[in-house]
Amino acid sequence: MGSLALSRLAVDEDPASASVADQVATIARKNLAPMAAAIDDGTVYPDELLRRLGDVGAWSSHQPRNGAADLRCAIQSMAALAEVCGATAFMAWCQNTLVWYAANSDNAALTTGFADGVAAGKILGGTGLSNPMKTFFGIEKFKLKGRRVDGGYVVRGALPWVSNLGPDHFFGTIFEREDMPGEIVMFLADCSDPAITLQPCKPFLAMDGTGTYGVQFRDIFVPDRLILAEQAKPFVRKIRAGFILLQAGMGVGLIRDCIAIMNEVDGPLGHVNRYLPQQPSDFNQLLSDLESEAMELARDPFNADDDYWRRVVTLRLHIGDASVAAAHAAMLHCGARGYLKSHRVQRRLREAYFVAIVTPATKQLRKMLADM
Ligand SMILES: Cc1cc2nc3c(=O)[nH]c(=O)nc-3n(C[C@H](O)[C@H](O)[C@H](O)COP(=O)(O)OP(=O)(O)OC[C@H]3O[C@@H](n4cnc5c(N)ncnc54)[C@H](O)[C@@H]3O)c2cc1C
Repeated sequence: MGSLALSRLAVDEDPASASVADQVATIARKNLAPMAAAIDDGTVYPDELLRRLGDVGAWSSHQPRNGAADLRCAIQSMAALAEVCGATAFMAWCQNTLVWYAANSDNAALTTGFADGVAAGKILGGTGLSNPMKTFFGIEKFKLKGRRVDGGYVVRGALPWVSNLGPDHFFGTIFEREDMPGEIVMFLADCSDPAITLQPCKPFLAMDGTGTYGVQFRDIFVPDRLILAEQAKPFVRKIRAGFILLQAGMGVGLIRDCIAIMNEVDGPLGHVNRYLPQQPSDFNQLLSDLESEAMELARDPFNADDDYWRRVVTLRLHIGDASVAAAHAAMLHCGARGYLKSHRVQRRLREAYFVAIVTPATKQLRKMLADM
């Protein structure tokens, strides 16, 4: 099922959603496509484009209303970006996740102003939950520590990688309380605070244009108005399915483009490519199954059933596996023409590995399923 079919699905059910996803797809084709190579190189961080996507509603459709939320339009929009540029789809996930945190917070001082600003793309930012997400499942220990002081907390520590950042950006993350062992607090980090340092990272395999930094907190004061949740454990239980499901767009769009690449070389190379074990038709079927499951789960991200959670984790695992498999197959279908640095298939392969290693990584997802 291609993006057109996804849009049709949404048109039948929600014209407003379809129009957002269609507008995002238009911006992806017209404005993002010419920048994709530079973003991949790390010479461009597309902040203007991210703000423009905010203008057409790309960051606001998944905000909860009356206790329910629908992530379908956000996933469809990110898939449209991922069809063109995996790095930008990842930044879109970072931005959408920040919106998801702010819009689900009970802190009225925070939600007023901030949630609307980030949902409109006036404020940009992301999420530093990799370390906490690994900690919840027994893989790491909390890297940030905090203690209560008058009017807020003082936080210290460092996170190795946080993306979609810049000097005026924000991101959501978690510290463990030193003064109350076992308690954790989720907050917004303000990158403009002089007690925060953004450390440039060494070049990556892909994702270099994503505004990714190591972040150091040197006894930063976090005022109460930037606290997302005093009790982070129940808050994380509430937002965790959305956090994972929103990643589906990255893989879905990437797989679509890998199928397109295989079809593009079918004319000159189909006579020999047909001997390869994996064909576009195999991935069309796989993609259709993954999309159907994603769209069904995305209607109900606050579902607290164990079975629902298992389906979310399983889907995420399958999307990582399928992304790598589709990019690998596309590479083999292209042959030497895909081995040129200028051919997008090798970028798709590098991007696919990111879908499989970004938290929750393949190994973490397998551990989570094994522990269930
Ligand atoms: C390009 C990029 C962008 C990312 N953006 C974000 C983001 O926005 N938010 C976020 O929370 N996380 C981000 N991450 C982290 C990511 O989500 C994963 O946590 C990370 O890829 C490792 O996950 P893993 O489960 O494979 O852990 P593993 O790689 O198995 O282990 C991770 C741990 O190993 C250690 N480690 C690994 N590599 C190094 C190294 N080079 N130097 C020192 N120590 C190291 C660190 O202690 C680290 O916590 C990003 C990672 C990359 C590569």
